Amino acid sequence: MRVKLSAMRVRNELVRRIEELSGQDLLACYQCGKCSAGCPAAFAMDLLPSQVIRLVQLGLVEEVLNAKTPWFCAACQTCYARCPKGVDLSRIMEAIREIALQERGDYLVIEEIPAEELAEFPQLAFISGFRKYTA
Ligand code: SF4
Ligand code: SF4
Repeated sequence: MRVKLSAMRVRNELVRRIEELSGQDLLACYQCGKCSAGCPAAFAMDLLPSQVIRLVQLGLVEEVLNAKTPWFCAACQTCYARCPKGVDLSRIMEAIREIALQERGDYLVIEEIPAEELAEFPQLAFISGFRKYTA
């Protein structure tokens, strides 16, 4: 994929919103990959955590909003503990989820989950799911 970069694209409104919501300096990341190497949820992700931040650094937020990775982030902060630059990716993932929920609506439609499966959910998982996956 060829993408023409410009200052306006790299520092677009969505990038600024992610920075503001997460409180993180996106440009601090120098792509060492330690976050991705240690992420316990990486096996289920379609973009590695380091790829998420790289895409956002380049202003390619739509790619990240379309990815499953922010929804699979368990907010365990292993990446934060390993990052030599102190980047808290879990907060960046949360900011991306928040923007996706505001702009696109719920990620998880509770009504579509079969009642028999819902009955099996631990109550805590149910409440956490509401918080994480719905606006
Ligand atoms: S560990 Fe930190 S500096 Fe390294 S790629 Fe991940 S976010 Fe970037
Ligand atoms: S906070 Fe999210 S991205 Fe970071 S290591 Fe945990 S699951 Fe992976």
